[in-house]
Amino acid sequence: MDTKALDKQYIMNTYGRYDVALKSGKGCTAYDEDGKKYLDVSSGIGVNALGYSDDGWVNAVTAQLNEIQHMSNYFYSSQSSKLAEKLCSLTPFTKACFGNSGAEANECAIKIARKYSFDKYGEGRNEIITLKDSFHGRTITTLSATGQDKFHNYFFPFTEGFKYAEADIDSVKNLFSDKTCAVLIECVQGEGGVNIMDREFVQKLRKICDKKDLVLIVDEVQTGIGRTGKLFCYENFDIVPDLITCAKGLGGGLPIGLCLCTEKLENVLVPSTHGSTFGANPAVCAGANYVIDTITSGDFLNEVNKKGAYLMDKLKNLDGVKSVRGLGLMIGIELEKDNAHDIAVKCVESGLLIITAKNLLRMLPPLIISYDEIDEAVKILDKTIQEDI
Ligand SMILES: *Cc1c(COP(=O)(O)O)cnc(C)c1O
Repeated sequence: MDTKALDKQYIMNTYGRYDVALKSGKGCTAYDEDGKKYLDVSSGIGVNALGYSDDGWVNAVTAQLNEIQHMSNYFYSSQSSKLAEKLCSLTPFTKACFGNSGAEANECAIKIARKYSFDKYGEGRNEIITLKDSFHGRTITTLSATGQDKFHNYFFPFTEGFKYAEADIDSVKNLFSDKTCAVLIECVQGEGGVNIMDREFVQKLRKICDKKDLVLIVDEVQTGIGRTGKLFCYENFDIVPDLITCAKGLGGGLPIGLCLCTEKLENVLVPSTHGSTFGANPAVCAGANYVIDTITSGDFLNEVNKKGAYLMDKLKNLDGVKSVRGLGLMIGIELEKDNAHDIAVKCVESGLLIITAKNLLRMLPPLIISYDEIDEAVKILDKTIQEDI
């Protein structure tokens, strides 16, 4: 049986897959099993920050694999300590906690917020306010945290203690009670449709959380690691969260989850309150160290901003495109005809790997995409849209 047939027969049907079996890739180019070439503006949902199989990243990971591939968290490990030091020296955060995915990072953040409150105020102060149209993961608790009704089905009972506000300060305030312990937001909602938070809203949230001693958590799983032209997206809003979560782009293609917290939260977790067998894997952290070194060197992040502006400008001028929104290289495209999914499928057939979010086309290109590749991506998208009109 070929790959597609094997998958259909033996893998649980949890994904609506495109009709393509990818085999290899380099930079922004991927090849399927028949040797057909694709230009990628999705980076495996923002994961392959440096594109496919970047030489330096592969070397960093394989060198570590040849050294030691795993040790339990009962032992010290240089790759994770170096990565934590690097991240803390680049940000206002003081300590890191590693896991393996975005959902796990959010679980960790939720535990830290609730225990901070428990330690200080005792039982009962445990509610977390999240936003409508948010997405925080697929575990029972992070589904609960996700502010979209369609995710709150089948798997009852869900974790209690989440309330959902509109992205507006009065709506958040209306949900405050003496049980509230934290607010969790994405500064740009990814899965929810590339919704950029209002700057004033985010700043007011920061102030209120300070006043009420609520933990402000920013989910940077999709927006982090240079995606929006800053190392972390919250920097665009001139605030410092108490806690951020990070995953997708950090490992450059290997699974990693991360929580970073400020000093006030750094001693909340103690031995036996949290852990992960695979968390802080040295090969994964070697890759992450390489990713962080690359995107924080020279003009890399400025280039992400410039390329994002260049790409959005081109997209805005296409016939059939109603509006374009985004930050850096995290871009949503609203079409005149409400058929983003069909267009995405046709783009893939025409050699452009693109994804959707709600009713939008979504582009999360590798951060290393070139201007020529941007031109080529826009050309394929334009042709696909025009053929459909
Ligand atoms: C993808 C995503 C998650 C979940 O990450 P997983 O690694 O799939 O568990 C959580 N939050 C946001 C904002 C995401 O985009």
